[in-house]
Amino acid sequence: MTRASGTRVSVNTVKILFDTRAAAQLRFRRNCTGSPRCVISPADALLHELLHARKMLLEPDRFIAQGGMGGVLYPYIHEADVISAENALYAAMVKTDGLERPQRPRHKHIGKMLRASCAVCIN
Ligand SMILES: [Zn+2]
Repeated sequence: MTRASGTRVSVNTVKILFDTRAAAQLRFRRNCTGSPRCVISPADALLHELLHARKMLLEPDRFIAQGGMGGVLYPYIHEADVISAENALYAAMVKTDGLERPQRPRHKHIGKMLRASCAVCIN
């Protein structure tokens, strides 16, 4: 989880809460349990959170316009932007290391936390 702190019109700091043993299932199709096409490791989950932090800190006006500092509604458009960046990053990583990772629709931000045996493990 990534939290921005500041005012309604500025982002001052960002805090990332990260568990080195928390994997996440992002896709829920048949045969997804334990599949690298559906589950991300804690390390890859941290990359998702870093993408949040990057957008919050480097594009604060956009983040604020998306309701990021309002605290009333969940900033769905910001999350969708992060998922788009995540899909691009994970696709580039798959080309580099050959390890499958989930690709998910921009509007599907739900995930189920799973216990992982190491920071780069999916189970
Ligand atoms: Zn997110």
